[in-house]
Amino acid sequence: MAKKNHFYYDSERCEFVPIEYDIKKKLTHSLSFWLINGIVLAAFGLSILTNYIGTPAEIMLKDENQALIDQLKRAESSIIDIENQLQAISELDNEMYRTILGLDPVTEDLRMGGIGGTDRYSHFDYYTEETSEILRSTASKLDRLERRMGVQKVSFAEVKNYYNSNQERLKSIPAIRPVNGIIISGYGMRIHPVLRYKRMHEGIDFRADINTDVFATGDGTVKFAGRKGTFGNVIEIDHGFGFVSRYAHLSTFADGLRTGDKVQRGELIGFSGNSGLTEGPHLHYEVLVRNRPIDPLNYLIADVTPEEYLLFRHSESNTVEEEPLSFAD
Ligand SMILES: [Zn+2]
Repeated sequence: MAKKNHFYYDSERCEFVPIEYDIKKKLTHSLSFWLINGIVLAAFGLSILTNYIGTPAEIMLKDENQALIDQLKRAESSIIDIENQLQAISELDNEMYRTILGLDPVTEDLRMGGIGGTDRYSHFDYYTEETSEILRSTASKLDRLERRMGVQKVSFAEVKNYYNSNQERLKSIPAIRPVNGIIISGYGMRIHPVLRYKRMHEGIDFRADINTDVFATGDGTVKFAGRKGTFGNVIEIDHGFGFVSRYAHLSTFADGLRTGDKVQRGELIGFSGNSGLTEGPHLHYEVLVRNRPIDPLNYLIADVTPEEYLLFRHSESNTVEEEPLSFAD
């Protein structure tokens, strides 16, 4: 292979003379050429990586941000679950505990009061839309949860105080199931099972075989124990404070039970049957407040399942106020 040489023109000798480089200079010349090229290429590559993919530190931060956002989203869904459960507790508090004790329900406005108004989360707008949205959403849900919890705590404290200072009255309220049986008919308008026309059902019916134990549902005094029209054998207990409970269609009464006897909640008073106007054995149970029948379910504090409560509670829309007291259920 022909050796490549650089030449210069020697005017005195009138000829081209090869240039003699010294080896050191040659090496330096070639090394610097490759070094410069290498640096330029590396810088170019790095700038592409940085622009389109990010520096390693940036990549790590992005991953970390994504993990934080994902975790916040999971936390938000847990907050929603907890809030729904707390909502169910508030409803139980209003519809059962507070109603039974005669306390005013805590309104939704009060439970949610103090939330809203000025935008308390505007500082999150500094971040990207996705981050700002998830931060706002979780922060506001947590605030709401905190508020609800606080109000619920106060409400339960009030219920407890009321209970402690009204124990005598509460022992008298007809608050337990009169019989161990499921509810088969609720309070309100219905087609009468024997008479076959629409009329007010002023109590609730429990499924009960003949001779099933029947218990007093609150402390009180036996007001009546005997036969009374379509009720058949019936017991009425006066609980004081305006409350009377009535147990109808009984087969017999507990041994020695007499009018004027004191009874306690849970005491055996008689046995269920199908005396009077019935289509079969069951216990018809009524609660009267100042001589007016009310839905006994309102007072069965902890003795009905939430399902029974929702299924059989009386809705106002099917009440007929002027309907006379019934003796045929
Ligand atoms: Zn009935």
